[in-house]
Amino acid sequence: MFEDVRRVAAAARGETRRAFIKSFGCQMNVYDSQRMADLAALNGYAEASTAEDADLIVLNTCHIREKASEKIYSELGKLRGLKEDRRKAGRRTTLVVAGCVAQAEGDEILRRQPAVDVVVGPQSYHRLPELLAKAQDRPGVVDTDFPVEDKFSFLPAARNDAIARRGPAAFVTVQEGCDKFCSFCVVPYTRGAEASRPVGAVIDEIARLASAGVREVTLIGQNVNAYHGLDGQGRAFGLADLIRAAAAEPGIRRVRYTTSHPNDMTDDLVAAHGDIEALAPYLHLPVQSGSDRILASMNRRHRVADYLDVVTRARAARPDIAFSSDFIVGYPGVVRAVGYASSYAFKYSARPGTPAAEMGSQIDEAVKIERLAALQALLEDRRQAFNQATVGRRLEVLFEKRGRHVGQVAGRSPYMQPVFAEGPTSLIGAMAEVEIVDVAPNSLRGRVVSPAS
Ligand code: SAM
Ligand code: SF4
Repeated sequence: MFEDVRRVAAAARGETRRAFIKSFGCQMNVYDSQRMADLAALNGYAEASTAEDADLIVLNTCHIREKASEKIYSELGKLRGLKEDRRKAGRRTTLVVAGCVAQAEGDEILRRQPAVDVVVGPQSYHRLPELLAKAQDRPGVVDTDFPVEDKFSFLPAARNDAIARRGPAAFVTVQEGCDKFCSFCVVPYTRGAEASRPVGAVIDEIARLASAGVREVTLIGQNVNAYHGLDGQGRAFGLADLIRAAAAEPGIRRVRYTTSHPNDMTDDLVAAHGDIEALAPYLHLPVQSGSDRILASMNRRHRVADYLDVVTRARAARPDIAFSSDFIVGYPGVVRAVGYASSYAFKYSARPGTPAAEMGSQIDEAVKIERLAALQALLEDRRQAFNQATVGRRLEVLFEKRGRHVGQVAGRSPYMQPVFAEGPTSLIGAMAEVEIVDVAPNSLRGRVVSPAS
C-alpha cells in the first residue's frame, strides 16, 4: 500500500498529508484527476487547496497541442523551486506527472526536469500507490504501460463528501482510446486502442453518484458514441442503451455525452434524442473542417454532406436540439448552415509522430492566426444569436452553486449556457424552470418560475 509505514507514523504524530492534483486539458482528465484524488484519499491524503500545502503534487497533463505540452515544463520549473523550499523547511514533496504528456514523453520528462519523482500514463494511474512507494527509495519511476488489467476495477469509489464537493453535475468515463487515427491527432498514441467499460460498472458508478446528490451525468469518452459494452448477461449495449439505463437511475434528471464522432451517430442514438426525455437537447459534434478535401486529408472518413445529414436527422428527432463543434481549419459554409450554440476553434498544432506532422505545405503561423480570428468572430456571432434567441423561453436549469452576487444562484441550461437567477441557496443541487429575461456576454439571466424539483 501507499507508503503504509510513513502514513502510520504521520498519523501517530497527528499530521495529515495532503495531495494537490492539477488537471489540464479535456473532461477525461478532469475525471481521471478525480479518480486519482479518490485513490489518494483512500491512502490517507486530504485534498490540498494549493500546491504549497501539498506533500504530493500531481500534474495531470494534456498533449493535444504543443502549447499544452510546453506549459507543463514551465509549471514543473516552478514546482522544482517549491519542492526545494519545502525541503529546506524539512518537508518532503513528491512530484508526479500523469496524463498524456507522461505517456508520450516518458523518460524525457525526467531528463528535462529531474525533480519529478514519478511519471505515469493515463492507463496505469491505478498503480500510483506502488509507484509512489518505489519512488520513496529511488525517485524517477516511469510507468507508461498499457496494462491488460482494467484500471477502473482497481480504483476506489468516490466518497460521499467528495461527490458533494464536486457538485450536482458529474462526469463518468465510459469509453477510452481511439482507433480512428485522424491524421492530426495524438490520442490513439497516448490513450491507446478504443475500449468500453462494462455496463454494470458504469451504472453502479452512476447509482452511487445519484445517491450522493448528483442530478446530471455526462458520459465521456474520446469517441463516446463508439461505446460497445456488455451487460451482466453478455448482451451488447450501444451508447443509446447506456443512456437509457443512466436516465432510468433514480435521482438522475439529465444525461449528456461527449465527444462524438459523426460516423458513429447511429440511428438508435439519433432516435434516443427523441425518446429519452432526460437526454439534453445538446450535442457536441466536432466537424473539424468544412472542406471535403481537408476532411479527406485529415482521415476523418466522412464528407461535409454526411455531417450535415447527421445534423438534419438529429433535428428531426429532437427539433430543439443545439450543436457545438471543434474546428481546426474552419470554413464559414458549415458554421452558417448549422448555427452552432457554441464551438471551439484551434490553430493546427503539428504533433510529433502523427501523419499530418510529416505532410509538406504546413501553413504559416501568421495565416493560421488570421484564419482563427476570422472563424472565431463568426462562431462568436452565432453563439450570441443563439443566446439571444433563448430570451423569453422557459428552460430547465440545474443549479450548481451560488452566483456572483448575494441572493443569486448559478446553474446551466440544457444547452450548457451558464444561467444566473435570484433565489435561495436551497435551489443548489435542484432543477427548476427558469424564464430567460436577459443575455450578458457569457451568461443568461433568468427568473425562477417553477418550484425546485
Ligand atoms: N474525438 C474527438 C473527435 O473526433 O472530434 C476529438 C477529441 S480531441 C481530444 C479534441 C479536439 O482537439 C479535436 O476535436 C480537435 O479539434 C483538437 N485537436 C486535436 N489535435 C489537434 C492538433 N494537432 N492541432 C490542433 N487541434 C487539435
Ligand atoms: Fe483524435 Fe477524435 Fe480523430 Fe480519435 S476521432 S484520432 S480522438 S480527433
